[in-house]
Amino acid sequence: MYSSKYLELLIEELEKLPSIGSKSAQRLALHLLRAPREDVLRLAESIRAIRERVGFCSRCGNFTEQDPCLLCTDPNRDGRVICVVEQPGDVLALERAAAFRGRYHVLGGALSPLEGTHPDNLRIRELLERLRPAAGGEPSEVQEVILATNPNVAGEATSLYLHRLLAPLGVKVTRIARGVPMGSDLEYSDQVTLARALEGRREVE
Ligand SMILES: [Zn+2]
Repeated sequence: MYSSKYLELLIEELEKLPSIGSKSAQRLALHLLRAPREDVLRLAESIRAIRERVGFCSRCGNFTEQDPCLLCTDPNRDGRVICVVEQPGDVLALERAAAFRGRYHVLGGALSPLEGTHPDNLRIRELLERLRPAAGGEPSEVQEVILATNPNVAGEATSLYLHRLLAPLGVKVTRIARGVPMGSDLEYSDQVTLARALEGRREVE
């Protein structure tokens, strides 16, 4: 039994975080109890801020405080290439690798009928919207779509599905190379591997 109800509550909340067990939660809570007041309040404030101020970009689906996001509006990025990924964490990983200067599209997951993820649950309609000619009949500036879904069963299924959907639109569709080991997550791949996978991308046939 804990001598403080608040300490117990904090440990309970920390335990809900990914890869934090009860021992780690207890260690973190005790650390916060002893850490300088300003540091702890800054942490609390940044947790509050991401919940209250950060939302999703209506164009690419990434996390942002402004809509469209900084990556979608940066004039130095190449709007002719869109890299399609499953999660915002994948964008973070690719940006860390500094291997891509085009724009992104976050699907919000991968197709997995067993887990109940169908095309309607992903941001596929929004992707098609970005490839469609503008209202004035101007063709979309997008010339290439890179499918950078994870190299596992769901990611491959999503890639295949998207290729079938996009091929008739006359846009070049490429798939990242197998530099990222099969079954792994893009998000946790190292920067060199990611850069190589992107560089070695091939047109899907
Ligand atoms: Zn965006």
